[in-house]
Amino acid sequence: MNKPSFSFEIFPPRKSDSIDKIYKVLEELKDLNPDFISVTFGAGGSANSSNTLELASLVQEKYHTQSIVHLPCIHLNKSDIKLILDECKKKKLSKILALKGDYIEGNQLSKDFRYASDLIEYIKQNGDFEIYAACYPEKHKEASSFAQDIRNLKIKVDAGASTLLSQLFFDNSDFYRFQEACDIIGIKAKICAGIMPIANKRQILKITSMCGAKIPKKFQQILHKYENNDKAMVDAGIAYAIEQIVDLLTNGVDGIHIYTMNNSYIARRIYEATHSLF
Ligand code: FAD
Repeated sequence: MNKPSFSFEIFPPRKSDSIDKIYKVLEELKDLNPDFISVTFGAGGSANSSNTLELASLVQEKYHTQSIVHLPCIHLNKSDIKLILDECKKKKLSKILALKGDYIEGNQLSKDFRYASDLIEYIKQNGDFEIYAACYPEKHKEASSFAQDIRNLKIKVDAGASTLLSQLFFDNSDFYRFQEACDIIGIKAKICAGIMPIANKRQILKITSMCGAKIPKKFQQILHKYENNDKAMVDAGIAYAIEQIVDLLTNGVDGIHIYTMNNSYIARRIYEATHSLF
């Protein structure tokens, strides 16, 4: 069996943040030797692409770590995507997380892409990229049922996605049920489990309300008990994430993908507690 991968997600600096902040994060993640770092891309439009591509390129060139470029298509047409793919080729960015992206109010819908699988087909025709895709252990919020979502995921994998990065989840039994469903339908792609350590209550409630992940009772208790104690909340969040990771690794998961929220302190603590298990 292959060694499970250990990877991070980061996002480009927001307008109000200085670029030095992300340099600092990357400096601090460097010696944790992740197998790859994925870089998010706001679905708003092609103007976002330069930040993502610059950062993904920096990860490879300066930090000698494989990067994955997130690419949401909901508001982009073939011509926009073609320009981004050409830029990826120039920058030697060969791995792409092909996404639908979340609809942004007021932006025009793509006339070329409805689902991530349409984007995957287009990427396949336009270069030699390794394609990653998103998956949802508790089903995607728009899917009519879990079974339907798994059938749609199969379409995405058959179109050419070789690795799946999962949405965050807080109950490993949801992930195992999902893995089993993938197995039954014949999805052979590698599945990396997405883990998000809690840093504060507000952030986690916002994210779970957007993606639809449920918050188990044990996790709710942590949020409730430590909501006014930042240090304790971070410690409890790290401990919860570590417990999830130990269980996932023990059960043979293909990879662990940490949603770092650009917080290298939390990423480091998780690494230190679990790296001997990989
Ligand atoms: P799809 O695979 O297209 O699925 C969307 C919905 O359509 C699902 O309900 C699915 O069941 C259904 N569906 C899919 N194919 C078909 C079909 N052929 N026929 C009928 N129904 C179908 N968003 C961003 O904007 N930027 C990011 O950087 C970003 N990074 C992410 C990283 C990860 C690891 C994850 C899990 C999500 C990320 N997202 C990001 C959010 C993602 O874009 C949203 O969850 C989006 O709503 C769905 O994207 P998708 O690629 O999974 O869509």
